[in-house]
Amino acid sequence: MLPDFRVRQRDYLLEISRLMTEELDLQALLQRILRIAIEMLIGHAGFIALKDEKKGLHIAVHEGMPEALFNYIERWLESLPQTEEEDGEVYVPEINRMLNEVSMGMITGVGINMIFQKEFIGQIYVFRNYRGAFSANDRAVLTSFANQAAIAVRNARLFNQTREQSLRLEALLDSVADGILILKPDLTVERMNRSLQRMLQVKEEDCIGKHIQAVFEWAKPPQGTRIEEAIMEIWPNTAQEHQYLEGDLVRKVTRDTLPVGITYGPLFSEQGELLNIIASVRDITRFRTAEEMQNSFISVVSHELKTPIALIKGYVSTLRRDDVQWDRDVVQESLAVIEEEADHLTAMVDDLLDATRLQTGGLSIHKSEISIPAIVKSLVPRFETQSPEHSLVVDFPEDYPPVVADEDRIRQVLSNLINNAIKYTPAGEIRISGKVRQKDVVVCVSDHGPGIDPRDIPYIFERFYRSDEVAKKTKGTGLGLYLSREIIKAHSGKIWVDETYQEGSRICFSLPFSPTSS
Ligand code: ADP
Repeated sequence: MLPDFRVRQRDYLLEISRLMTEELDLQALLQRILRIAIEMLIGHAGFIALKDEKKGLHIAVHEGMPEALFNYIERWLESLPQTEEEDGEVYVPEINRMLNEVSMGMITGVGINMIFQKEFIGQIYVFRNYRGAFSANDRAVLTSFANQAAIAVRNARLFNQTREQSLRLEALLDSVADGILILKPDLTVERMNRSLQRMLQVKEEDCIGKHIQAVFEWAKPPQGTRIEEAIMEIWPNTAQEHQYLEGDLVRKVTRDTLPVGITYGPLFSEQGELLNIIASVRDITRFRTAEEMQNSFISVVSHELKTPIALIKGYVSTLRRDDVQWDRDVVQESLAVIEEEADHLTAMVDDLLDATRLQTGGLSIHKSEISIPAIVKSLVPRFETQSPEHSLVVDFPEDYPPVVADEDRIRQVLSNLINNAIKYTPAGEIRISGKVRQKDVVVCVSDHGPGIDPRDIPYIFERFYRSDEVAKKTKGTGLGLYLSREIIKAHSGKIWVDETYQEGSRICFSLPFSPTSS
């Protein structure tokens, strides 16, 4: 039979071992170890000090220590040299000597270094406030506790490290702008980051465990290598090569499509077993837009610029024929057409240049105080001679105030709007009217033409947009309203289609009295 205290000691050690597997909170575990150690050694107080890189040796948990003693020991610990202890036995005799001195022998203590695989982890200390030396057995008991505590600290630190790493990884996954999807080898979802949830308009918890086909809904079959193909045919031969897939994903809620490029690669174990497939999903709307813009640019340049050039060339070749004597009127008429087409060309090239400038850094705006009615009046005669079938009516109130704006740019906007009204309306009245509101002034250009199809209204201010119907019948680049919108935006104003107007089209813009941006 074991003596009673041995049985208790064994039970306590068993309890500590059990706690170590159950309790992952280091503080709680240390507190428990200290309490048991004090109880076992019939002490009154104690502490466990830990050493870490940042704080050095510091009290991690303590029990029953009067505040004065706690503060004293804490300061004393701080003052200890921070050198590495070779055998782990440096501080214990010292602290005992110090305690003996301060309590005049009233407090006795026993302390043991906590060592794990030759590494000094800290110290465990138990005090008694009555005279009575600690025996060799007391030291042996405390040593077992110290060993357990050292292992516990090690485990808890490892656990914390792993937890921190995984938290960092989670945070990293959620902070990237690209969508990230982690798949199991059977192509079911293991993890989906926030960006991808936003892109697809789904929640991660609804997708976990689902097959990728149930999560990615393609508007039409994507281009590139399918994941199944990569698993079966590519990765077994060319280890770990990344693959690319591109297409339009259907978003769950709004049901619109999102163009994406997906790069994915395998994660193999050391034994060559496929663990995961990691896919990074990028929103490629901007690339698509840039690509479309490039295509539109090419088509505008090839179709729209070619027409006036062909006309000019035709007239010039005709005039140059030496076998015919052209009379003066024909020459004048031909030169007028050439001039008009050259002006048309210049206007188109200017628009294209402005559109490019907007892409690369914005238009320059030079503001001064301007009178919009005066600009309109100066424009009218030119349009009237150009198009006798239309009558232009200028309708501004007498007290229409001046505004601070870029005169040339506002003239460009007005010309675009009047030009469109003339271009899209066979004949009739075109009214350019002004209104003063509380914070801004409004200008509207109305015609009695076919109007703008409501389906086109959301897009007509987009770059290169022309309604299909109109594009077949008229010439244009689809840049006029886009540039107008950008110019008005640069003046902190707004431009819109007045949908209440039913007799044709009415496009209005507003300019604030005190523009916020210059
Ligand atoms: P463009 O006139 O070169 O096509 P805009 O950007 O000026 O380019 O106009 C974009 C589109 O808006 C036009 O193609 C046309 O479909 C529509 N639109 C603009 N103004 C009018 C109008 N006054 N009447 C009817 N449609 C118009």
